Amino acid sequence: IKPCIAQKEVTLHILKTFGIHMSKKLGQNFLIDNNVVAGIVSAANVCEGEPVLEIGPGIGTLTQALAEAGAEVTAVELDRRLLEILGRTLEGYNNVRVIHGDILKIDISREINKEKYKVVANLPYYITTPIIMKFLEERQPVELLVTMVQKEVAQRMVAKPGGKDYGSLSVAVQYYTEPEIMFIVPPQAFIPKPAVESAVIRCTVRTVPPVELVSEKMFFRVVKAAFAQRRKTLANGLKSAGLSKEELEQVLTQAQIDGGRRGEQLSLAEFAAIANAWSKIVS
Ligand code: SAM
Repeated sequence: IKPCIAQKEVTLHILKTFGIHMSKKLGQNFLIDNNVVAGIVSAANVCEGEPVLEIGPGIGTLTQALAEAGAEVTAVELDRRLLEILGRTLEGYNNVRVIHGDILKIDISREINKEKYKVVANLPYYITTPIIMKFLEERQPVELLVTMVQKEVAQRMVAKPGGKDYGSLSVAVQYYTEPEIMFIVPPQAFIPKPAVESAVIRCTVRTVPPVELVSEKMFFRVVKAAFAQRRKTLANGLKSAGLSKEELEQVLTQAQIDGGRRGEQLSLAEFAAIANAWSKIVS
């Protein structure tokens, strides 16, 4: 029986044995609380034989729990120093494959060539958003993403219109998925302790988009323009994005939206109405 890695003493022992100093630059905060690890696996509802992609396995803490749950794990780690450790800590699990690479650069579909899979990760915080958006924008065949992120980022992902947390990240994540915060994780759950609180977020990828769009590109152009300068009105934001005064009037009338409102007050459906009205003008 292998010792559970998600414990302070075991983690420190592994790091000492291999003489590893954790890299702040690579966002290395390793989990040492097994309740949190078990909570992540349970949030992902991992079943026997199910393909799971893990980003940044570190010394194999979450990987071990996923393997114990019976998942077919593909884990991508950037830090070459950790590969030797992973070979040892995960020795004997024949349902784990570790790949050396940068998750933002590798050809994901080549590494995990499955019809559907889940992403489960304690993400490096310096690139949380680019990683999540990469999977969504590339339309990787992911059904579920369960990831540890900074609490503030999680709050922005689930935010509804009207509050300060609502922005282009909220719209994008909610366009592609149904996000929910599963639980909050205190700094003490990691070594070293991060400066901020964290949260486990579960994003269930939508099979049908929540709004009908003429052009997805136009939708995101409108969203970007609306949030580019938060103090600006929607009308001013759209003008900066290239709409003439006449076009702007036409678009807002058609979409039935008051140009004096601000981006942070608009729902996905309202952004879609603007984008679709604009698409009609340019087509
Ligand atoms: N999964 C481990 C845990 O829960 O204890 C480690 C999580 S730690 C927050 C993030 C891990 O991601 C580190 O092992 C780090 O080296 C790795 N990492 C950082 N940037 C990466 C990248 N671009 N691609 C793949 N892994 C990366």
